[in-house]
Amino acid sequence: MQNTAEFYCAYCGEENTTFIDLSAGGQQYYVEDCQVCCRPNILYIRIDEDTLDIEIDTEYEG
Ligand SMILES: [Zn+2]
Repeated sequence: MQNTAEFYCAYCGEENTTFIDLSAGGQQYYVEDCQVCCRPNILYIRIDEDTLDIEIDTEYEG
């Protein structure tokens, strides 16, 4: 199962859409490049197992 969620780039503040694999667990962590400025954001993803609400925190890499 896959879902999309939005996050805001830690560098330029633009909204990005990411695909999240819900079967990979309620807490996930990966790096995704911003679709606008191409710089790497670290995404910390939390998924509520009951409601499937997705929360994303972003951080600069490095
Ligand atoms: Zn950006």
